[in-house]
Amino acid sequence: MPKRIVIALGGNALGNNLPEQYAAAQNTAKAIADLVEEGHQVVVAHGNGPQVGTINLAMAELTAKDPVKYPPTPLTVCGAMSQGYIGYDLQNALRTELLDRGIRKEVCTIITQVAVDPQDPAFSHPTKPIGRFMTHEEALAVEAEGQAIMEDAGRGWRRVVASPKPREIVEIASISDMVSAGHIVIACGGGGIPVVRRGNRLEGIAAVIDKDFASCRLAQELDADYLIILTAVEKVAINFGKPDQQWLSELGTADAKKLIGENHFAPGSMLPKVQAAVEFAESKAGRRALITLLEKAKEGIAGRTGTVVCD
Ligand code: ADP
Ligand code: MG
Repeated sequence: MPKRIVIALGGNALGNNLPEQYAAAQNTAKAIADLVEEGHQVVVAHGNGPQVGTINLAMAELTAKDPVKYPPTPLTVCGAMSQGYIGYDLQNALRTELLDRGIRKEVCTIITQVAVDPQDPAFSHPTKPIGRFMTHEEALAVEAEGQAIMEDAGRGWRRVVASPKPREIVEIASISDMVSAGHIVIACGGGGIPVVRRGNRLEGIAAVIDKDFASCRLAQELDADYLIILTAVEKVAINFGKPDQQWLSELGTADAKKLIGENHFAPGSMLPKVQAAVEFAESKAGRRALITLLEKAKEGIAGRTGTVVCD
């Protein structure tokens, strides 16, 4: 039975720099094409950590050289640039991979904005370090300009932004129409560009939306059957990295919540994936989430591997 599937690609699907991304995209396209070939409707979301980091650094260096010629680039603009550049590599790799398999399909990238709640409690305790490492003096100067700073794991000082929850995908109608028309859509890159609605205007916000939560929102708004989170591990584990580690093949939402409470999933990596999987599986009867290795997408959807989260 063909399904509507939202795939969330992790960092390993895209590499850490320009040539790595190009090569990784060819490999990632194979995993996505496997699902398209089986007749599924596929929508692709992805992370953007290294890419937006590089763009942000490059722009900041220009500004430092000549702030009049190169005024500061907002984080939202860096995010938009990363969505465009990642989408460019992904859509071309996917287009070629499909044509090589004799499949003719439109593939396109949507620059996606995601509305957040300006009252989201995340804004009162920013957690997401971004941008270049600074000395404490430099960081204090940045703080004096009104930006939050933090010491990042002994590596130096950085700017820190909030990670609010996604509320609403602004371009959802366009995405939905294209998916229904049979096109493959790449959307919500990097969790989407965070915005707040102000009347007829969308105001960009310096924040980072978790791509796993944004993918979960996207899957719900598209009424998808499956949310597939492709990452660097084949299954979710309890006691991860410990001698009594145990891989999980199936995980009910009630058990998942219990394990979340027992801190089995690392914040910032596996925790948001399990939380997103649970939210999606609980959102409507029949919806399921799958967490597995990028290369195992096809086997996972066939029920042969990965961790399936269901209500
Ligand atoms: P992505 O870029 O795909 O979002 P992350 O690095 O953020 O990848 O998250 C995936 C990583 O989470 C895995 O590679 C693994 O090292 C780590 N991890 C933390 N806790 C667990 C767990 N309980 N089970 C499996 N993996 C875990
Ligand atoms: Mg991650």
